[in-house]
Amino acid sequence: MDARKISLVRTTFKAVAAADDGPERLVRSFYAILFSHYPGTREFFPATMNVQRDRLLRALGHVVENFDDSELILPFLAQLGRDHRKYGVADEHYIAVGNALVTALEDFAGGEMWTEEVDLAWREAIALIVSVMMEAAHLEAGPRTWTGRVVEHKQVLRDVAVVRLQLDQPLRYGAGQYVGVSVPGRPRMWRYLSPSIPANDQGQIEFHVRRVSGGWVSPAMVGQTALGDEWLISSPLGALGVDRSTGRDQLMIGSGTGIAPLRAQVMEMAMRGNNPRVHLFVGGTYPCDLYDLETLWQIARTNPWLTVIPVSQEDTDPWWHIDPTPITPPGMHQRLTGKLGEVVAEFGAWADRDIQIVGSPALVQTVKYRLQAKGTPLANIRHDPLA
Ligand SMILES: Cc1cc2nc3c(=O)[nH]c(=O)nc-3n(C[C@H](O)[C@H](O)[C@H](O)COP(=O)(O)OP(=O)(O)OC[C@H]3O[C@@H](n4cnc5c(N)ncnc54)[C@H](O)[C@@H]3O)c2cc1C
Repeated sequence: MDARKISLVRTTFKAVAAADDGPERLVRSFYAILFSHYPGTREFFPATMNVQRDRLLRALGHVVENFDDSELILPFLAQLGRDHRKYGVADEHYIAVGNALVTALEDFAGGEMWTEEVDLAWREAIALIVSVMMEAAHLEAGPRTWTGRVVEHKQVLRDVAVVRLQLDQPLRYGAGQYVGVSVPGRPRMWRYLSPSIPANDQGQIEFHVRRVSGGWVSPAMVGQTALGDEWLISSPLGALGVDRSTGRDQLMIGSGTGIAPLRAQVMEMAMRGNNPRVHLFVGGTYPCDLYDLETLWQIARTNPWLTVIPVSQEDTDPWWHIDPTPITPPGMHQRLTGKLGEVVAEFGAWADRDIQIVGSPALVQTVKYRLQAKGTPLANIRHDPLA
């Protein structure tokens, strides 16, 4: 797309964003048009559309903002296309979505702004988005979804459960990647989870799930999962993992259930003979939040390349915590107290490391900011998408 068309697309989108309730009105109108003109598409979406509307807006905003950066936007769209396989969408649904979006934008912009040139620019932009997504989806081999039967559900903290599942067939993913998950009782409300063990031929998979208060799906995953439940899992996404081509040592920073994809990586590394040095910071609010220290310590004991450093924001457990607190095993790095980002940055800039940060969006941003302030090159830092 040429610069003029990109600019026209951006101008219309900015006008939407600037209008009172503009983005919300646009997505509501988009879904209303989609469902009335193409009723068959309704079945792909959950009963409640709030999260869906947010996601569409964020994705569209991201694409429009970065349209001229093909290195960023093409992989993003390709991943979106691969991810959409889990819904069972076919080519005609992409076309329906594209048409509904143009109609919604035209209705919103009105006659004066929606000139023939703007119309053409948007149609070209949407055709490009749709073709990249469809092509990526077509290229992906393997099943659309896997079925996992819950074989163990262990509540490790008041708000965290470890869930183990037996898949109907092995799922190949890189340690550090994440997958889409849909649970019974919350149909079509897909959420991303990061497997906490490496892929294996036996089709076993494990997730660490935190209940987000007020959330639609995670409370059901943590509180209402029963043995024998069947979860749907979609194909792996994301690019976290140890990049051995850099030859650099690794700094891994995980908070809460954010340790899951890092744990999978060190477990996989433990199966190899030769590994870079890894410093793994494990964070939580209270000492009792560091629920998986024992496992990580077992790996570190037999793998001298791994150093595990526990960090809690508070020095003591809350009054309501009644279970015995995991004590730092003898020989392990002493638990440090403070905010995770500050504690990690106190050690220096870690400028010679490949760095991965995993946790809530706020945690990732804060740690990244702290490291950057210390002089860490941003290019060395990786994390999953924040939403
Ligand atoms: C790449 C990726 C990997 C993930 N891996 C895991 C994992 O391994 N384990 C895990 O437990 N979760 C993981 N998540 C988060 C998970 O996908 C859900 O977002 C989370 O469980 C909330 O879903 P929900 O339906 O309960 O909340 P929603 O109904 O989606 O959201 C309810 C409210 O909570 C807010 N919210 C959502 N997530 C968080 C959060 N983490 N912290 C604070 N507020 C939040 C939302 O902004 C919203 O306002 C991952 C997310 C991503 C993007």
